[in-house]
Amino acid sequence: MRRKFIAGNWKMFKTSAEAAAFAEELKKLYKNTELDAAICAPFTQLAVLKAAFAGTGIKLGAQNVHFEEQGAFTGEISPAMLTEIGVDYTIVGHSERREYFGETDETVNKKLHKLFEHGITPILCVGEKLEHREAGKEYEIVQGQLEKDLKGLNAAQVAGLVIAYEPIWAIGTGRTATPAQAEEICGFIRKTVAALYDGETAEQLRIQYGGSVKPDNISDILGRNDVDGALVGGASLVATDFIKLIG
Ligand code: PGA
Repeated sequence: MRRKFIAGNWKMFKTSAEAAAFAEELKKLYKNTELDAAICAPFTQLAVLKAAFAGTGIKLGAQNVHFEEQGAFTGEISPAMLTEIGVDYTIVGHSERREYFGETDETVNKKLHKLFEHGITPILCVGEKLEHREAGKEYEIVQGQLEKDLKGLNAAQVAGLVIAYEPIWAIGTGRTATPAQAEEICGFIRKTVAALYDGETAEQLRIQYGGSVKPDNISDILGRNDVDGALVGGASLVATDFIKLIG
């Protein structure tokens, strides 16, 4: 049985003081053990949140990582730097990184391999642009991303992975995919993984939906069989909103 998993993606929001205040507020409200919850924060807030979430069960994620162990890569963060802090998850291949920072399926693939070497669970983001959906190409796009992004990973790794289906047209736009659309592609991702690996691997894999998830639409989305949780941007920034998603 897959546990539902809600992860907040703070993107480039919040200073350390703001992160600490959020954590204090969330801790007071948080009681749930029914599902897994995490905040994926900017690098400079990770240590603050690690300390603040200690003993609560709320997990911690980064939003990116470099695929080399170390080296002359100005401005980058290595996986060992993340494991030292005690990061549980790292988002890889978010559409904003693919669009604005040159992330490709090849670098995504290298990052997945590197994170598994370091015992960090990747949250792999895939999803189509509006023009792809309008042209009926969403399946083709998502399948192509999966084939390239998962290349060389073994079945045990893929079974432990989190994949977030995030249609780009639904991110930050207030235009959510319908629960049926979310389930359709999450189900398609599971079938694609079953074809690339095997049915058991696909059954264990957790698949989130992301794109304008809010307190008023989360229960419809989580009610779908193939949707194992959500990756949440805007609604993860305010503790009293986020608690409604994970509470
Ligand atoms: P949103 O962002 O919830 O603000 O649409 C989702 C994401 O980018 O992960």
